[in-house]
Amino acid sequence: MSSNRSTSFDSPVPVGVLGFGGLGQAAARVLAPKRELRLVAAADGKGYARRVAGLDADTCINVYAQSGTVGAIEAGGVLSTQSIQELIEAAPEVRGYFLALPNLPNTFMASVARQFVASGWKGVLVDAMKRTSAVEQLLELRSELAEAGITYLTGCGATPGLLTAAAALAAQSYAEIQAVEITFGVGIANWEAYRATIREDIAHMPGYDVDRARNLSDEEVAALLDTTDGLISLENMEHADDIMLELAGIVDRDRVTVGGVVDTRNARKPLSTNVRVTGRTFEGKTSTHTFTLGDETSMAANVCGPAFGYLKAGLELHARGIYGLFTAAEIMPKFVR
Ligand code: NAD
Repeated sequence: MSSNRSTSFDSPVPVGVLGFGGLGQAAARVLAPKRELRLVAAADGKGYARRVAGLDADTCINVYAQSGTVGAIEAGGVLSTQSIQELIEAAPEVRGYFLALPNLPNTFMASVARQFVASGWKGVLVDAMKRTSAVEQLLELRSELAEAGITYLTGCGATPGLLTAAAALAAQSYAEIQAVEITFGVGIANWEAYRATIREDIAHMPGYDVDRARNLSDEEVAALLDTTDGLISLENMEHADDIMLELAGIVDRDRVTVGGVVDTRNARKPLSTNVRVTGRTFEGKTSTHTFTLGDETSMAANVCGPAFGYLKAGLELHARGIYGLFTAAEIMPKFVR
């Protein structure tokens, strides 16, 4: 199955971003100074843009802000309500996509993966999905993805993603892992910059589920946030870090806990994001490793950086003929230059 081909990043590899909201726009900014990956395609709910020579991040962001879609870009923009399907067909040069899409409903990302399989496109897909049940749906597509020649890396944001990978690394000191505790602090100045992220977080609040949160109008979200002073505090979330660490053979999922606080009115983090990995060493000592993200790093930096690091790793796997489904806990991300 594997060949000895490798990916050279001497010339920029053409990549795309699906979803151009908070994370999609940050992704375009992250890629702008990079020479190994070039953003040539972007899609949102109302259109897509493609430019083989490279899309300009500022132009995409400004046009999206003015007209609500990158499809309104003069050179290379197309308005469409089937933007993902049309872009896959229109941009055969794209070798990898970051899926910065809302997973609303909870089956949406799996349906996008099926769309790629059905299209005959071959390449690398990376998502930053959060729910365990959403990753489980992708597991069911494992052999279809492999047969289609797609290398799909799931759970490659911050949590799951960066912190899950850090837990996998920290586990190496121990003979047995007793607990993995992830606590995140997110500060965003304005919830409307990350509508899907906030709705998906609300879906974890008592009395809510994914469908109820999805159907809230923007006014209802704002009214709900008014009652909490803009804060969303979450405990024992259904987060895919658990299944990813279990699949990687590191720890049973019931020993992984995720919770955190999101402040939707303040760019400053309400607490420092960290993962604590407690285990027993071969000598019988119990200890805890803690990995804490710098408070100055934004959610967007901690999601988009890893997502493209995993996309680069995925491109190398793909070039070697290694297809199928992988998670952020089993592959080391590469650094994109
Ligand atoms: P957003 O609401 O700001 O933007 C969503 C974008 O997707 C919009 O541009 C919208 O037009 C587009 N879109 C919606 N339906 C579409 C369709 N059918 N076809 C094409 N485009 C479509 O979203 P966001 O806040 O940037 O979040 C994106 C995702 O990232 C969410 O699912 C969120 O859970 C995830 N996320 C993950 C992490 C992590 O650490 N793993 C952290 C934050 C966010």
